[in-house]
Amino acid sequence: MRLRLRTRYSVLETPAIFPVHNIGAGGNTPPYWEIHLKYPDYPRIETVMVNTYFILKRPNLLQEIARVGGLHRYWRYEKLIVLADSGGYLLIQDTHRKLASKRRQVPDPPIDLKLEDETPQELILRTQEAIRADLAIPLDYPLSRELHDNPITHLAEIEKRLRATARNTAQAYHRKRDKYMVILAPVHAVNRETLELYLKYLRQELRQVAGMDVGDVPGYTIGSLVPIVHSRERLRKLLTTITKTLRSNYGEDKLIHVLGTTGPTTIPVLLRAGVNTMDAKTFIICAAKRLYYTPQTYRRVKLTQLEKLPCKCPICRRHTPETLRQNTRDLTLHNLYVLIKRLQEETAKAK
Ligand SMILES: [Zn+2]
Repeated sequence: MRLRLRTRYSVLETPAIFPVHNIGAGGNTPPYWEIHLKYPDYPRIETVMVNTYFILKRPNLLQEIARVGGLHRYWRYEKLIVLADSGGYLLIQDTHRKLASKRRQVPDPPIDLKLEDETPQELILRTQEAIRADLAIPLDYPLSRELHDNPITHLAEIEKRLRATARNTAQAYHRKRDKYMVILAPVHAVNRETLELYLKYLRQELRQVAGMDVGDVPGYTIGSLVPIVHSRERLRKLLTTITKTLRSNYGEDKLIHVLGTTGPTTIPVLLRAGVNTMDAKTFIICAAKRLYYTPQTYRRVKLTQLEKLPCKCPICRRHTPETLRQNTRDLTLHNLYVLIKRLQEETAKAK
């Protein structure tokens, strides 16, 4: 289903891909929103995902972004729609490590940190507001491959993580000050039982902390799918269980975002499951490894294996396999082009 969601300066139309920008982490991510200026027949990209933690770790950068009035102005593209993932789990791990080295022993993972100022949860939320994120994901606790594979053995750990995610989510809605920032509620599960458990926790926390119900949130973001992305069937099954449950209980008009699983071959799976938006990072990693997404067949091949480029995109028209190999930024843009085309084709088919 197509959705329109009003954001701070623009309107988000779905389906959409949010390519990841590594601001704060270094690297050489292209300014996606400027590509169409250089290549007029490249699709216009006005969505981007950033990692809040990487920005938070660079106080000078954060200060500069806040000073000019947010990322839209920092990048001089007001219509940009910024999705800020928390990356908070990295922050928690860092805090944990610091505590551990101070005490010379490893404390329990600090999942039950109290919510006060200066807690990781609060820092993430305030940073997301300072950069004027349009959409924000509160700090959540992903479920690892091990937890997916042995849910019964690890039930206590799964419950602990789900409870902490539910609590942080409710706190984020309660403590949010920026009325234009849309918070997407994280949803994590390894199967139907743990999904129901999580929704129960979320309901309790939202009621207690924020006076809301699960159906009152504007949208959801489904995480913890990366550990099972290698199996399309597992991905399809779990994702469909989650989206169907959310849609039938809380309405067709809620935005559903899926974290971290977007590739040329998963896009049809995600769309068929009813996902509205998705973020993509693998295409950058592939480009760094000189891997080229083939159009139509959707494989990743080494550029050295190609005699000529089998793609008619505005990037490939200007390159040979050899020159594209030397230009990872353009290779990144070609890979992204394949993703966008796949999204457009699959959306057209579904009509
Ligand atoms: Zn191309």
